[in-house]
Amino acid sequence: MTNKLIILGGGIAGLSLACFLNKKTVILEAQEEVGGLCRSFNTHGIYYDVGPHIIFSKNEEILQFIRGLTETEKIRRSNQIYYNGHFIKYPFENFLAQLGNQKDIQYCLNTFLNNPYRNMPADNMLAFFLKTFGEGITRFYLQPYNEKIWKFDPSMMDTQMVERIPQPPDQHIIDSCAGKFNEGYLHQLHFHYPKSGGVMSLCDALRKRIRDKSTIHLNTRVKKVRKSEGKWIVSTIQGEEFQADQMINCMPLHELMPCLENVPIEVQSAIADLKYNSIHIVIINVKKDTISDHFSMMFPQRDIIFHRLNRLNFLGENYCLSDGSATFLAEVTFRKGTKYSDLSPQEVVKQVINDMVKLEFIDKKDVQFTEVHTEKYAYVIDDLESKKNKKSVLSYLQSIGIECSGRFAEFQYLNSDQVIEHSKKLAEKMNMVV
Ligand SMILES: Cc1cc2nc3c(=O)[nH]c(=O)nc-3n(C[C@H](O)[C@H](O)[C@H](O)COP(=O)(O)OP(=O)(O)OC[C@H]3O[C@@H](n4cnc5c(N)ncnc54)[C@H](O)[C@@H]3O)c2cc1C
Repeated sequence: MTNKLIILGGGIAGLSLACFLNKKTVILEAQEEVGGLCRSFNTHGIYYDVGPHIIFSKNEEILQFIRGLTETEKIRRSNQIYYNGHFIKYPFENFLAQLGNQKDIQYCLNTFLNNPYRNMPADNMLAFFLKTFGEGITRFYLQPYNEKIWKFDPSMMDTQMVERIPQPPDQHIIDSCAGKFNEGYLHQLHFHYPKSGGVMSLCDALRKRIRDKSTIHLNTRVKKVRKSEGKWIVSTIQGEEFQADQMINCMPLHELMPCLENVPIEVQSAIADLKYNSIHIVIINVKKDTISDHFSMMFPQRDIIFHRLNRLNFLGENYCLSDGSATFLAEVTFRKGTKYSDLSPQEVVKQVINDMVKLEFIDKKDVQFTEVHTEKYAYVIDDLESKKNKKSVLSYLQSIGIECSGRFAEFQYLNSDQVIEHSKKLAEKMNMVV
């Protein structure tokens, strides 16, 4: 049977695309559940995401669309950066007096105000940090933290992801060193979060909305995609075959490309050069801890395995257990050949606990339960070649009539609001074509 339109991948890109399209669609999803990176998992009654998915957007229309999907709570952020044995409020550059040590405060202030890099071109991530924030803020926090999350040298990374960060006004930094604080990054000061069920509740709601016009095939892993007599023919590893007049890709490029025939050699080498990080999400529930009620905590320290630790209790009563315990979510990125990539998920859990004990946040005997979840495609790496490689792959796909929408389908650092925005734009374009 020929369908009108097939969507490859049932993450939030595929689901929202189906929602905005005015035609019937068939969604093919490899996992047993839709949602992709916007899935949530339940352990001992607590829902957790692939890294807590806070909802915010610069696009008011998209924000209202997302908030209309499920009941959300508006929460004021309480993010911190761990530095020299204590916490400093986020964003780091707005709370410099909290460094505590006058020498460090003066180093940050002097290298910001008398910044030899200010008028230099910022053609990589590290150069951007030095130019925008000066040496002190870069060396204390931005450089080590970014090295840790990307497992990649920031001087070999593009500026795509960071170039929208505003240059802090001189007066804010001067005030910040004198203990007069401005909040900074106001567009994220408040965020929304589903009252219950985690970010997955957005996907559940989308799924309900598209019930009448879309068929979702779960446990359906795309293996081969070809065009014959003007129709797309998609085969799956389960042995099924789907046909359609149109097809949109919302699954990772690294999954799509091996499904295609006769891909030019230069496109094959471009996709092989596009790098990405995977992530372990580690849940640790403890009877008690020494961290007060913060949400996301950043750890630039090289000897601590996680780059971010999140206290899920902060998200509201539906994310707490009635026994008064605290549940933490630690994030550990890795890529083949990088630090920690040889550790098994269970070894990662052990190391997370050991590091939390070392930091004196918890006592090992207070750990009540743990869980670990691993995602292969977590972060795209914008290295200095990625723009060129991405262009080669996406132009080729466009030339054979495949449009893409989504974080790994476009190979862009997109949050879920931007993914929905891209899917909406693409759907509007396709809705115009009869
Ligand atoms: C650690 C972390 C924290 C984040 N925090 C936030 C946040 O706070 N706020 C926010 O808005 N966003 C956040 N994001 C980003 C957000 O998760 C993504 O932007 C969004 O989920 C991407 O959706 P997608 O549909 O494009 O891709 P995906 O979710 O990756 O969906 C792709 C789908 O394709 C399917 N697929 C793969 N291969 C095949 C195949 N062969 N056949 C069929 N199907 C296949 C997958 O199973 C998956 O369901 C975060 C991401 C990470 C990793």
